[in-house]
Amino acid sequence: MAEIKLANITKRWGSFVGVQSFDLTIEDKEFLVLLGPSGCGKTTTMRMIAGLEDPTEGEIHIGDRVVNDLDPKDRDVAMVFQSYGLYPNMDVYENIRFPLKVRKVEGDHDAMVRRAAEMVELTEFLHRKPAALSGGQRQRVALARAIVRQPQVFLMDEPLSNLDAKLRVSTRAQLKNLSHELQVTTIYVTHDQIEAMTLADRVVVMEKGIVQQVGTPTEIYDNPANTFVASFIGSPAMNLMEGQIEGGVFRCDHVEIGGLDTAHSGPAILGFRAEDAAVAPDGAGQITAPIYSLELLGDAVMVTVRTGGALVAVKADKDYRANIGDPVSFSVPASICHLFDQGSGERLA
Ligand code: ATP
Repeated sequence: MAEIKLANITKRWGSFVGVQSFDLTIEDKEFLVLLGPSGCGKTTTMRMIAGLEDPTEGEIHIGDRVVNDLDPKDRDVAMVFQSYGLYPNMDVYENIRFPLKVRKVEGDHDAMVRRAAEMVELTEFLHRKPAALSGGQRQRVALARAIVRQPQVFLMDEPLSNLDAKLRVSTRAQLKNLSHELQVTTIYVTHDQIEAMTLADRVVVMEKGIVQQVGTPTEIYDNPANTFVASFIGSPAMNLMEGQIEGGVFRCDHVEIGGLDTAHSGPAILGFRAEDAAVAPDGAGQITAPIYSLELLGDAVMVTVRTGGALVAVKADKDYRANIGDPVSFSVPASICHLFDQGSGERLA
């Protein structure tokens, strides 16, 4: 059992709050991703779980133990960092074996090392030095070294961020498969929302040390709690327009969207995703404006207009063709719209 409970943990340095009142139970075997922009407190949260940083307030439980006063080595967690931290003078085999030696783990080290290497497809590289490996292979050695001693918890801090875009995608898939096989509670830090969405059982979105939302990738994508989450998740970011709602009708600039299921009246932010809307026949949609840009994406064309003080993008069919400056109309039915408070940015019920 390796449930992790973070009971109201806060980290302060003087008057600066790095992480504020983080309160969450991470279930046994769960893959939890901490997601947010640089400086939002992801790494600090993870370092507190690892024991590399002391919380100013709050308790950290791993399994049935409060670990606040335990040394990192006694917490039974294994960490994987973006800088692989391999020993250059040891070959892959010795690098993977290292934690078994240091911790004087009993049993057949050779079998354990070979099994870990096999899981990350490194068997044929066991006798190479790290310098003779690619970035992706080095990261897999770091993973194998974490796997080999079968810890209760994996902590991974941006493990894919040093890899090039293509390798990141294939290593991500490998990691997903590996985590499914291993079934070990994992906390994974990233600022890449695609990594978060593809790997996580649940995602924690953080900003400025504060948890903004916790949910499954689908929950966070479909029901963002506020405009920060709405604009951080999804590519492109959710379209957000400021306007007024009156009698279930949102208005701003060249936009009029009726039939909204809301009792709210007054200023509001209306959001919708580019992939949920469509290009409508001339003038038939709820937004009509000149085209600001057109981007061919291969499987679609991104059509952007400027309206309501913002750029608003809609994904059109891949065969859609037009010119910048041509009028275009977007179909934005009420059912795809998200409404947020203009002051706080919080989702309107
Ligand atoms: P990144 O993605 O850039 O690694 P992060 O979300 O992991 O960012 P943290 O490293 O957790 O962010 O840092 C959170 C905030 O705490 C930042 O503003 C950082 O400058 C601050 N911080 C981190 N360590 C210390 C420290 N030892 N003393 C003072 N402030 C710190």
